[in-house]
Amino acid sequence: MNVHRISPGDAMKRTPHIAIVGGGQSARWFLFALTERLARGERALQGCRLTIIEAQTEVGTGLAWSRRNALEEHLASLPAKMSRWSFGERQQVQFQRTLGLLRELGLSVELITGQEALTLEQRAEHFEIGLASAPPVTADYVILATGYGQRAWRSRALPESLLDGRPGVHGSPWPAKALQDAVLEGSENRPKHVLILGSYLNGIDAALSLAVKAGRFVPDAEVRLRYEAPEDFKVTLGSRTGQLPKVWGREASSPYQPRWFTAERLQETFQTSGSVRLLSIDTTLEMLGDELAEAAGRQRGRRRGAPVRRRIRAWQRHLARADKAETLRRDIAAVLTTGKPFGGYEHMRVVEWQTCIDAAIQLWSENSPWFSAEDHLYFDRELRTTFFNTMLPMTLGNALQIEAMLRAGHLEVIAMGRGYELHPVADPAWRVSVTYGDAMGRSQTRRFTDVVDATGQYSSIEAHPSPLIQFMLGNGLIQPGLRAFRSTEGLSVPADKKRSVITRGEQAYLVTGGIYVNPKTGEVIPRGTYELESSGSNRTAMYAMGPNVCGQFTDAQSLGQTQRDSLRIVADLCRKLIQQQE
Ligand SMILES: Cc1cc2nc3c(=O)[nH]c(=O)nc-3n(C[C@H](O)[C@H](O)[C@H](O)COP(=O)(O)OP(=O)(O)OC[C@H]3O[C@@H](n4cnc5c(N)ncnc54)[C@H](O)[C@@H]3O)c2cc1C
Repeated sequence: MNVHRISPGDAMKRTPHIAIVGGGQSARWFLFALTERLARGERALQGCRLTIIEAQTEVGTGLAWSRRNALEEHLASLPAKMSRWSFGERQQVQFQRTLGLLRELGLSVELITGQEALTLEQRAEHFEIGLASAPPVTADYVILATGYGQRAWRSRALPESLLDGRPGVHGSPWPAKALQDAVLEGSENRPKHVLILGSYLNGIDAALSLAVKAGRFVPDAEVRLRYEAPEDFKVTLGSRTGQLPKVWGREASSPYQPRWFTAERLQETFQTSGSVRLLSIDTTLEMLGDELAEAAGRQRGRRRGAPVRRRIRAWQRHLARADKAETLRRDIAAVLTTGKPFGGYEHMRVVEWQTCIDAAIQLWSENSPWFSAEDHLYFDRELRTTFFNTMLPMTLGNALQIEAMLRAGHLEVIAMGRGYELHPVADPAWRVSVTYGDAMGRSQTRRFTDVVDATGQYSSIEAHPSPLIQFMLGNGLIQPGLRAFRSTEGLSVPADKKRSVITRGEQAYLVTGGIYVNPKTGEVIPRGTYELESSGSNRTAMYAMGPNVCGQFTDAQSLGQTQRDSLRIVADLCRKLIQQQE
């Protein structure tokens, strides 16, 4: 990076103050974006004050990448093998180096650690951030990079009847060490049959946390992994569809050049309905399907004629009927040059249909805030699982371990449908039972010694355990995301979403998940303002990023999205600072 040093003459008359609340991955990407801008000579930022407020004593990691939560065995969902924990260790160093670089570039930087921000209020000329046990921080611009927060979320999938502190009931798979201890400490010679709710990446991490504590993975003569553990140790991954993520193949050596799924083509399909601009999810899916087919060298899907939702449903039915272990073996074999269901990262091959995923997920996510409420509901109810399993697959190392556990009979994956029920069991050995309808429509009841909720956090910001988020929901500085309905005639919303519909004049909105932001700038849209692309004052502004904006951007929980959030926020911040200076 070329470093542009500031001459004394460049010094600003006024020193705007930027505060970042949270010092995890989002903050790290934001600091990179600032550094890059400054190094390119961005005058608007020169001389600014920067304060980072982090509740923990560690910076640059956050929940998923910290030794506090993850184990060395937990891998990033990438084509290459990368321990999240080791990556986090490197990021801590990089975070501090970036702060050093920002100081060299003329910013006055303060890092406050071990202080949770508890309140945030708008004063006449600035924001005031109240800290747990230190004087408040005042700032002109605030970046909410608080992510998953640092307090435990209330379990999403476990009923109240189980959440009374009874043993065997685990509201979260994190921290992994705590889960291992709670489930397996002192359990020698006693059967352990653990139900993990959720079969996506969190569920897989939870299964592996327990697997490495209860047993071990050893390669056999063919270098195929074998899982060895006491016979009485069993894990069941149970989810609505019982589907596992696909498996990453090798990264292509050059970026994919999209033909059908491009920003320009998507822009052409935007439609205006009343005062809102909307993008149709069906059109987007058609284009994405065409691109995946093109990448795989197949005929474009659309020629088959059936509407895209019907084609997706047929594919989902096919996946539901397939044997889970066999499907996983096929998915592993498909990414290896050997064509066998085992092998190492060195045997990976480029998978044609995956070559376009990286660019496609970015484009999808960046445009997803313009899907209508109707499309958002369709995505949430019918597409989410298939979409993430395909577009954000698991890394090969995890797939091989899961396959080894399945083969050894220590793991099973079951589909429990939507209406499964969990009940406490009054038996010293078995603590929980689950009743669900199986693929044949028969009612099944199973008992478990433990249950772990690995379905992930609520997407609703209203359920956030952070006092800061609750405080700002209370004072109206933030509001949950809103999505405009395409039509108000015959508004059809599922019964459980009826309370989430609000109307303003003729326009109806669905209250969705994270903090409501302008998707072009990342600026928070406060309570009382409805329009998606609205912008506030130049003198003070608040932005939100990362998992905080999960109701709006499909991919809000990935590092790629936090990087894109940083770029749009820094761009808007510079624009505001320049206008202030003029
Ligand atoms: C289990 C898991 C695995 C994942 N794996 C991947 C992956 O493989 N690839 C990928 O791209 N993405 C992955 N993600 C998603 C990605 O890690 C997150 O999107 C990203 O880390 C979010 O960063 P963040 O800084 O916004 O939030 P966080 O990581 O939650 O960090 C927020 C920080 O803010 C601090 N904080 C919170 N509230 C306050 C407050 N009030 N005052 C002061 N400080 C506060 C917290 O202590 C924390 O340090 C994963 C996520 C999870 C949960």
